[in-house]
Amino acid sequence: MEYVVFGGVWIACIWALAYVFLYYYRSKRFLELKKEVEEYVGECNDLNNHIEDLKSTYVNFAPTDYGNAIFRDNSAYRYKRNELKRYVESKFVYNCSLSVCRNAQQQPFKYLCKYFNITPNEETLNSFEEILNNFSAAEQGKILLRNKREEILKGIWNRVPFIVKLLDKNGFQKKLGFTPIDFSNLYFPTYTFNYISSGGNSSMRTSIVLDINNLNKFVVYLSELVKFRQSVAGQRALMTTALREKIKERDSYTCRFCKNSTFNEPNLLLEIDHIIPLSRGGMTTENNLQTLCWKCNRNKGSRIIETPKEEYVPVQDKLNISSNGITNNSVVADISVKPNNQKTRAKTNTNKEKNNNSEKNDLYKKLVEYKKLLDDGVIDQEEFSKIKKKLLDE
Ligand SMILES: [Zn+2]
Repeated sequence: MEYVVFGGVWIACIWALAYVFLYYYRSKRFLELKKEVEEYVGECNDLNNHIEDLKSTYVNFAPTDYGNAIFRDNSAYRYKRNELKRYVESKFVYNCSLSVCRNAQQQPFKYLCKYFNITPNEETLNSFEEILNNFSAAEQGKILLRNKREEILKGIWNRVPFIVKLLDKNGFQKKLGFTPIDFSNLYFPTYTFNYISSGGNSSMRTSIVLDINNLNKFVVYLSELVKFRQSVAGQRALMTTALREKIKERDSYTCRFCKNSTFNEPNLLLEIDHIIPLSRGGMTTENNLQTLCWKCNRNKGSRIIETPKEEYVPVQDKLNISSNGITNNSVVADISVKPNNQKTRAKTNTNKEKNNNSEKNDLYKKLVEYKKLLDDGVIDQEEFSKIKKKLLDE
């Protein structure tokens, strides 16, 4: 009798495994389910890729390239110690004396700047603010993405066989097409001060992890140094977590381009964008910041990259951009870079082209004036369109 029960359990187990791994994922029932959620899964994966891009911001920031060199340890010990092996490959390790290692613990940022050649100036400040901005979005994105995924799964959960839920919950998500979310915090840059005594018997380490909390503090630290040097940066806002939240609140948690909001889509990732990019002379001021959803922000970013600085962009193209719902600031943004471009072009271009450009420049000015009138309610959209068309035809 016992054998029969035992055998029965075995058969049930084998059946369950075979059902899940050999049959279910190939069944029509599962394939239909997969097809149904395909679009949402794709969206989730896009967001996941975007988060990975945000996390890699730091890779693009290189303080100074000092070139390459070969290091050979010819000592009898050869320092084959674990603490050395682990850190020898890392870019952000400084092997130092005991006192530096200890002092770095007392004043991390000061030593970070000094020994890792991070020059406290506006450019560095901008870079770290951007890193903080992107990392904050990545951290928020991870949570929103998980919620989004759970929502999709919840919607179909009662149609998934019990045995699949029991045996292969994670595998089921993978089979639906979800790419795994990396929840680790390993992407936060870590700077290490490493001390090893000359005999190699004692060692000490101070590590500074630039996580969100530390980055917020570091941005404030850098800004104070820059302010001290009486730079323009002293008069502007700092892109901290607090400012990010403030801008989102001001914009009612709504994307300024597509008008999608967290009221409409609770798991929508909102990002903070510079209307006039820093690369074009924009500043971190509340007026120059806007809330965009991650999709619009990504599209905006790529469009700026696609537009070569020196190349002339036809007026029509610019106006199409602005009439697509981008605020008039983008028109202003394009003008604000004009004088610079003009200067470089003037060196090489003929007089005829110069005249042509100044005509176009006048046209911009006129259009911006009319756009202001439109915004102030002096003229309506229809009138503005007529004027725009007339000016372009001339
Ligand atoms: Zn949007």
